[in-house]
Amino acid sequence: MQHTKLAIIGSGPAGYTAAIYASRAQLNPIVITGMESGGQLMYTTELENFPGFPDGVIGPKFMFGMRTQAAKFGTTILDESVVALDMTQAPFKLWTKLPSGITPDQFKRASAEELAEIARTAQSSQPADIEAESIILSTGATSIMLGVEGEMGLLGKGVSTCAVCDAAFFRQKKVYVVGGGDSAMEDALALAKFTDQVTILHRRDSFKASKIMQERVLANPHIQVRWNSQVTQVIGAERLEKIEISSTVNDDKEVVTADGLFLAVGHRPTTAMFGKQVELDAHGYIVTRMSLSAAGLKAATQSLDNKQLIAFPTMTSIEGVFAAGDVVDVRYKQAITAAGMGCQAALDAERWLADQ
Ligand code: NDP
Repeated sequence: MQHTKLAIIGSGPAGYTAAIYASRAQLNPIVITGMESGGQLMYTTELENFPGFPDGVIGPKFMFGMRTQAAKFGTTILDESVVALDMTQAPFKLWTKLPSGITPDQFKRASAEELAEIARTAQSSQPADIEAESIILSTGATSIMLGVEGEMGLLGKGVSTCAVCDAAFFRQKKVYVVGGGDSAMEDALALAKFTDQVTILHRRDSFKASKIMQERVLANPHIQVRWNSQVTQVIGAERLEKIEISSTVNDDKEVVTADGLFLAVGHRPTTAMFGKQVELDAHGYIVTRMSLSAAGLKAATQSLDNKQLIAFPTMTSIEGVFAAGDVVDVRYKQAITAAGMGCQAALDAERWLADQ
């Protein structure tokens, strides 16, 4: 079994930034990358809004740079997944080997219940692989997809899950946004700065978004709304060319040309492997003392130190377990915000370990 002062679970901007800081602080961290090493930026073509890259940078290249930088300062990087995790008492225990009979593909496709069963089997049948004095959870969040034909193949080729990142590539193009929540409103407004051909497709006849966001969208002359509509097929050879829009109230279907399709139907934070060990907020995100939620506010007020400052702001409900990045962030979900939180979590872990 390997012993470490700090295990970092997840390899997006939060995890690797935490690793860079922690390894420079001589904590010799171990990063367990997960199956999709590099996180969501591996599906991004051009990243144009990360400061310091005036000509933009390709998502996978950017993540490979972070990984190389973390390794350079002494981070051990394991291209494995955390199969089971015991955070009930320090030192915490992590299992990274799949129990016999379970293939990586089965693990990848497992439901939350199946993951829990795999974790139980691993814990009862094999010794833990890593023992950690502290942990940073940075497992990210995934965009919910529509699950329709053609969508995955054109992701990054006209189909996008981040308008803030990609809107500038759609100057004067014909774009569609799917969803009726605040993200869809925000995406449509971001796109409307670059093109006057934005259409929101919403499956019902009223939005769920906050009133103020709805009003901004409905007052914007660049944005049309097509109610009671859903995308049922995404079509294109090399890039997105067309989408099929179907009515949710009758059998009408129409195929229209489209340059961009922005999915804003929500995100799912990656927390299944934590079971009920760590506190989650009402939206399913991990609560830290700096979470942007009522639960975060409560945790923050309960952790004020004698100077009335929040002690270890990135700490979760478990002493010694910190969290950073999209798995905590219901609101911003940007590479730069995740990286910033990764830095904060590493500094908190370092100070907390020094106090022990
Ligand atoms: P939400 O869950 O709020 O909204 C998702 C939207 O997508 C809903 O309108 C839903 O439809 C629709 N939808 C879900 N699944 C499908 C599907 N398969 N096909 C078609 N439509 C679908 O997610 P958001 O990401 O918008 O927001 C998440 C949280 O973040 C919210 O609390 C929001 O307020 C907050 N947020 C705040 C922002 C801000 O304040 N600036 C910006 C962005 C988010 P239906 O309405 O029928 O359920």
